[in-house]
Amino acid sequence: MSFSDERIRVAVLGAGGLGKAACRIIGMKKELLLCGVCDSKGFVVSSDGLDTQRLASINGDLVSGYRQTAVEVKASMRSEVVNPAIAPTAEGIGPVGLLERTGGRDVAPLEADLPVPQARPVELSIDDCRFSIERPSSNRQSKIDNRKFQGVGVPVPQARAGGLHTLDRSEVGYSDDPLRDIIHRSEMWDAVLIALPNLPNGFIPGVIERFSRAHRPLVFVDVLKRTPAVRKMFALDALIKEAQAVVLTGCGATPGILAAAAVLAAQSFVEVERVDIWWGVGISNWDAYKATIREDIAHLPGYSLERAKAMTDAEVEAILSQRDGLLELRHMEHADDLLLQRVGVVDRLDQVEVGGLMDTRHPKKPVSTTMTLTGITFEGKRASHRFILGDETSMAANVIGPALGYLKRGIWLKAHGIFGVFGCTEFLPMVVR
Ligand code: NAD
Repeated sequence: MSFSDERIRVAVLGAGGLGKAACRIIGMKKELLLCGVCDSKGFVVSSDGLDTQRLASINGDLVSGYRQTAVEVKASMRSEVVNPAIAPTAEGIGPVGLLERTGGRDVAPLEADLPVPQARPVELSIDDCRFSIERPSSNRQSKIDNRKFQGVGVPVPQARAGGLHTLDRSEVGYSDDPLRDIIHRSEMWDAVLIALPNLPNGFIPGVIERFSRAHRPLVFVDVLKRTPAVRKMFALDALIKEAQAVVLTGCGATPGILAAAAVLAAQSFVEVERVDIWWGVGISNWDAYKATIREDIAHLPGYSLERAKAMTDAEVEAILSQRDGLLELRHMEHADDLLLQRVGVVDRLDQVEVGGLMDTRHPKKPVSTTMTLTGITFEGKRASHRFILGDETSMAANVIGPALGYLKRGIWLKAHGIFGVFGCTEFLPMVVR
């Protein structure tokens, strides 16, 4: 897309704690349209845009949760308007998906990319989302795959004979490889926000590589944390340029907004001595952010990403219980170091120190999040600038907010013909309205 007034069509990879927060925030932004989401078991997509609040409220896996909310929406609408005495009639099915099915039993979401001018649903169950269409002209029946047609209808009072109009023409399905299904539908979005676990280090760079090898010229934003993972991402630069794509990497909180703040803070000094990041995060329930907690555990002495990935949920619980729900982490291998070195804020990686305190039992931050940059001014004075995040701002607000700002920057870069892999320290995020 060009950099214009059009809404940016976004797919979110990962529907865990941060993926769902992304759905909610995207729904509040008039410049963005959520068109696809996936988790490890399946996907939900719609070129018309998805119901973001509904997605954000899902418990359990994405597909069953989405179908469950579809049934709930349908049930709440059915009782009021549909007249059970009206027999099914075939409303027109035009090029843009209209519907019909009355009779008071069901609603029929039909997408009219089928050449069926006089279609009549003859069988429908919203629970397994299967229905067939009778073609009066040929007397043939076409069975429709539940992955291609799923949705929920809403009554349209003005429709002839109490017809129903489709509310949601989303495509929903389980998959053995949801990322493949998202890649296959790449023409449906302009940008992809990645909220997947990065276990092991090469996982998310590998996802971007898959898109690029499929020649998908999209904008990608990740919230990667680990230095070796971000290094792997930069190694994809030639491939990304060839695909005419843009990747903005490390665009959450740390790295992300805090590393970008360090770039601003560095401007007052002729020499930067140190950058110290100390973060505080409070969440009421660790399993709402499983990847985040596992990746944090991997920083504890004696642990690794591989070990954290292999741990059962019960083992994670046990580690957290031993520590009263608190994880204190020091000398974290966060990519703020690499991203700040890349733009010349520091010369050496060891000038950047990242640590923090995670409380997995209370949503209140156990400590304020700060980025402190210490340097020497041109007059020879040593001083520090400190950037403090408001204690009321959650991890999700401080990760997804910046990621979406960088996503808009990525669209801007692409519109200006600038392709490749860039870090959060190389450009300011834009403000998404
Ligand atoms: P989570 O565990 O809550 O959710 C991960 C989601 O990814 C789940 O929906 C899961 O089903 C899905 N998933 C896993 N494997 C998949 C696959 N192969 N295909 C499709 N979907 C798959 O994760 P979270 O706690 O929301 O964290 C997401 C990421 O955000 C993590 O990598 C974490 O490190 C990162 N993070 C970054 C920052 C930052 O400041 N930069 C802060 C916190 C978290």
